[in-house]
Amino acid sequence: MSDHKISTKVIHAGQSHEPITGAVMQPVFQTSTFAQPWPAKHTGYEYARSQNPTREALERCLAALEGGTHGICFGSGLAATNAVMQTLPANAKVVCCDDLYGGTFRLFTKIFVKAGLSFDFVDMTGADFDVAIPEGTDLVWVESPTNPLLKVVDIAAIAARCKVIGAQLAVDNTFATPIFQQPLSLGADMVVHSTTKYLNGHSDVIGGVVITADDDIGESLRFVQNSAGAVPGPWDTFLTLRGLKTLAIRMERHQSNSKQILAWLQDHDEVIKVHHPLLPSNPTYEIANRQMSGFGGMISFVLKGDLNRA
Ligand SMILES: *Cc1c(COP(=O)(O)O)cnc(C)c1O
Repeated sequence: MSDHKISTKVIHAGQSHEPITGAVMQPVFQTSTFAQPWPAKHTGYEYARSQNPTREALERCLAALEGGTHGICFGSGLAATNAVMQTLPANAKVVCCDDLYGGTFRLFTKIFVKAGLSFDFVDMTGADFDVAIPEGTDLVWVESPTNPLLKVVDIAAIAARCKVIGAQLAVDNTFATPIFQQPLSLGADMVVHSTTKYLNGHSDVIGGVVITADDDIGESLRFVQNSAGAVPGPWDTFLTLRGLKTLAIRMERHQSNSKQILAWLQDHDEVIKVHHPLLPSNPTYEIANRQMSGFGGMISFVLKGDLNRA
């Protein structure tokens, strides 16, 4: 489907009719195990932690949307992030951007530090990457735009630095979605999503995915998926496939709605500051315009007064 537009891929990529009945939608393969024609001989499906056709359809679709070749789905966005960390060597050194989804920060600083990983949190907007990302770094982890401050970092420039020192680059693309930003095409090695958010889009599923175009990384993530077992269930992957079909038009509408809300907030007496990549006052406006084709609907802002006033 590589010639099709992304608005077509969200509907069809990675999916074809089911061969026995011709059902045009991927069925929910709600099974734990698969019958084997002979002991240790199977049809490609043995046990649903290892393989599930519904999950695989979602994985193929998500990989296609990000321009990757491997999609590996997990039971939540944090489980996807967890899996990336579990591919790293002992005592790995990780450099992260300073504004991060709170749960990611908690996972890194409360759980993976216990496993000997070290994390450096740096403001990567306008940073000198030769300094911010020293030799010996194993992984660089960025969100762009970030949750909640909507900071944007120069993904291509960070990727170039990572190539020089042999570090991997993972980008949490949850806020932009592949509709507006495709980090693999900017040089990232992995894209991570909380599919809970825009990708599923209906507030009824928790899920996550890691996407890569690198066979070795894909294989090690697949190994973690099966060995650590944080897999999503077939219903959740079915619902996410279903939600994805409207992603392109939802993102368009989110964006046009957010422009109106943005204008309203900027004029509001009680608002001190508005964070949005689209604002020319944003220091990374130029980078955002270069690496994103749109900005979606996320806005954050600072209010006058205290919590009660808010
Ligand atoms: C929600 C979120 C996550 C975590 O995903 P869950 O599905 O809640 O585990 C990670 N990154 C970002 C940017 C998020 O918004």
